[in-house]
Amino acid sequence: KLLLEVKDLSAVVSESKQPILKGVNLTVRQGEVHAVMGKNGSGKSTFAKVLVGHPDYEITGGSVTYKGDNLLEMEPEERAVAGLFMSFQSPVVIPGVSNIDFLNMAYNARRRKLGQPELGPIEFYGYVSPKLELVNMKVDFLNRNVNEGFSGGERKRNEILQLAVLGTELAILDEIDSGLDVDALRDVANAVKGLLTPENSILMITHYLRLLEFIKPTFIHIMEDGKIVKTGDISIAKILEKEGYKAISGS
Ligand code: ADP
Ligand code: MG
Ligand code: MG
Repeated sequence: KLLLEVKDLSAVVSESKQPILKGVNLTVRQGEVHAVMGKNGSGKSTFAKVLVGHPDYEITGGSVTYKGDNLLEMEPEERAVAGLFMSFQSPVVIPGVSNIDFLNMAYNARRRKLGQPELGPIEFYGYVSPKLELVNMKVDFLNRNVNEGFSGGERKRNEILQLAVLGTELAILDEIDSGLDVDALRDVANAVKGLLTPENSILMITHYLRLLEFIKPTFIHIMEDGKIVKTGDISIAKILEKEGYKAISGS
């Protein structure tokens, strides 16, 4: 079933009107994993941010349909309620707020918007603790302050935990693998796989073949100068690693 359909999407920086996205086309069906690769500055993060409704960018052309609705007409909060979430490249530290309280608040905020009953601390604990296994985290992780003193790998795992708790249908992961050692990368890759169900999909931005080998995306796309210039399977990423972007460039 079709989840996201991006057609000829163009966007500029709101402030300067500098064009960044120049006609992106991408279709994501339920249960698929899509990876977007591309040189620094090709527009990958901008694409991700435009999908979640980031105010820094203005849409200048094209369309985005999400679960049959016009995504571009939805407020960022409405997109989140509809199950579209993005993990952030640099998560914030929230002093004095425990991880479980933060997750509980975020979860209840979404439940409220969906018109569903909120969960109290004890019920929420019952809901969240089985999900810790997914990210290979101990229970005491929940009682630490959000992101405070987390290692790089813990931060990433916590982001995945957030996506799992919120009930994400399309998870957008921007360089979830940056700065991780091999063990942390394997954990994060397994956690990402844990998000995947026949109904859920993932759109991930990455530079690394290694993560792709763990996760085995359905499609790999190469972005160049604000457009997707090539789509294929893992073999694209292998050529890329060996020969660089010029070997698969669209130009
Ligand atoms: P990538 O994630 O592929 O490295 P980005 O989407 O971050 O690329 O950026 C693409 C281009 O758009 C870069 O040249 C970047 O400097 C520019 N850009 C992105 N966002 C902004 C912004 N908010 N203001 C000014 N320039 C921006
Ligand atoms: Mg970059
Ligand atoms: Mg980026």
